[in-house]
Amino acid sequence: MTDAHCHLYYLLQHNQDAERDRCRFIVPCVASAWNPEDFRCHEEASRNAPEDARLLLGFGVHPQLPAHGGPDTTISLETMEQLASEHRLDAVGETGFDLYDAWFRESEPEQDRIFARHIEIAHEHGLPLVIHVRRALHKIFAASAYLKKLPAVIFHSWPGTPGDGDSLLKRGINAFFSFGNALVCNHKQAIRSAALLPLHRILLETDAPYQPRRDCSYSYWTDLPVLGELLVQLRRENTDFSGSADDMTTIIDSNFFRAFTGTNHTG
Ligand SMILES: [Zn+2]
Repeated sequence: MTDAHCHLYYLLQHNQDAERDRCRFIVPCVASAWNPEDFRCHEEASRNAPEDARLLLGFGVHPQLPAHGGPDTTISLETMEQLASEHRLDAVGETGFDLYDAWFRESEPEQDRIFARHIEIAHEHGLPLVIHVRRALHKIFAASAYLKKLPAVIFHSWPGTPGDGDSLLKRGINAFFSFGNALVCNHKQAIRSAALLPLHRILLETDAPYQPRRDCSYSYWTDLPVLGELLVQLRRENTDFSGSADDMTTIIDSNFFRAFTGTNHTG
């Protein structure tokens, strides 16, 4: 199985199981960092990852960062630019927009500026862009002319409707829609989108450790098979998909490598 979005550094910080399993249970994943320290941890883990478990490296200014003030946003942005120029990234992001509440909305002009810069860097280096978006899909649509120039755009925890996703695809964006434990936690919109968006556009993620199921304190790679089974059930009920859980894993893994490496390589 593959994990389109996790925060390995924080996962290792926050739970002992992950630390113990660090080497023997690692799935091909994209580890997203937003400060130099977590990136260094991911880069080291990537070097030590078993051959069949590629750990791809993402870096971006998280859209919640500007609301916190202080130097973090500048450090994060400069680090992203530097890592891209040194060809140390597999993906730019997560970045995007968080307009969830008034506190986040205050930093909207800064989120605009930072998002534009991420698009430029992704374009310049031919890298996929990972997007976090909350209550701000209109801003993604507004940027679609730029987004369609990128090799791929991955929406982590896709918050939109199937119709929203289809319109982004119709605008020529090579978009992928990633789903995590929102499916297990019965989020109606996530469930509808996972059930109905084109299957070759769907990814699964843990957002580990930040998206736990209701009975857990953190999310982890062991959630992936559960998500896979759920997706099989949703597609069987809503589409002509009639495959097995293994078929679904093959499809999701192939989507993962297409989204992040532009190839069908699944090794
Ligand atoms: Zn995340």
